Amino acid sequence: MDVALFSTKPYDRTFMEAASAGRHRLTFIEAHLTPATAVLARGAGAVCPFVSDTIDAGTLQVLHGLGVRLVALRSAGFNNVDLAAAKRLGITVARVPAYSPEAIAEHAVALILSLNRGIHRAYARVREGNFALDGLLGFNMHGRSVGVVGTGRIGAATARILLGFGCRVMAHDPAPDPALAALGVAYVPLEELLGGADIVTLHCPLLPATRHLIDAGAIARMRRGAMLINTSRGAVLDTQAAIEGLKSGAIGHLGLDVYEEEEALFFEDLSDTVIRDDVFQRLLTFPNVLVTGHQGFFTREAMAAIAEVTMANVSAFEAHGHALHEVT
Ligand code: NAD
Repeated sequence: MDVALFSTKPYDRTFMEAASAGRHRLTFIEAHLTPATAVLARGAGAVCPFVSDTIDAGTLQVLHGLGVRLVALRSAGFNNVDLAAAKRLGITVARVPAYSPEAIAEHAVALILSLNRGIHRAYARVREGNFALDGLLGFNMHGRSVGVVGTGRIGAATARILLGFGCRVMAHDPAPDPALAALGVAYVPLEELLGGADIVTLHCPLLPATRHLIDAGAIARMRRGAMLINTSRGAVLDTQAAIEGLKSGAIGHLGLDVYEEEEALFFEDLSDTVIRDDVFQRLLTFPNVLVTGHQGFFTREAMAAIAEVTMANVSAFEAHGHALHEVT
């Protein structure tokens, strides 16, 4: 099948070509998929977008006109797709539901440990010949209360790692995981989790119900000075409210791998440009904030798994008219 892959980098080519193994004709396009760039998919039966692409009704309309019948997302999240429009146009949407959830869980824990022990600050200090410890005082993870919001694949992997540290793990999820409960994870209402956790880590998907799940009210209910980690989707957290929380001391540390307006920033080298997003720039002024550019998924194992499942979705669709992991 001819597949047009959008928002691609050299590393995407490496993993996708290996997974395709010549089964599909792949065209690697650097541009983001938008209504304006969708024409680049001409001749393809499937497109393969990334999380930074806009698969709205306008994009889908153009793709439909070109004869594209499959949107094979190379991501787990699908909040950037207008599913109703895809259904109306008869375009199948597939995704990669699970690919090494440990990759993202380990990154969330990396953010926790780095913020706790000031690794990001120590790195810069030592290179400047500054070996002072002031400002680097951390806490033992052992015995700390951690609240995991969303215990699907990634949240569950995160909870297991934290149990290994000797943390007391609370969780909130409308669908509790009995296997985690058996390991000692206590499922509690969100209010109780926010009020009782030293560290809150977000692993729920972005849905209408979870947009700004952590807003000013939720931050006010958190333990004063608690650490907040978001590796799920940017808009689960109200960034402006988080900034106010940092200024007041309500939030003691903030670790982000995702950001509400990340589409305009992440995955590109903008080091020679002026960043006009004042909210993002304000975040970077806090010493107790650590931001990474949506790299939670970026391990060899996860990239290989994403490519394998994406190509398997395309192969199944080509053979039977149904992808393996369709989003409905
Ligand atoms: P999943 O579908 O396995 O789990 C999501 C869990 O969230 C489910 O158990 C669901 O019941 C729960 N949930 C839904 N609504 C909730 C709510 N209101 N409160 C609490 N829990 C709620 O998904 P996953 O594979 O664990 O991924 C979680 C999210 O992580 C994805 O949706 C995606 O946005 C994000 N993600 C980020 C990266 C990254 O690189 N940073 C990579 C992959 C996924």
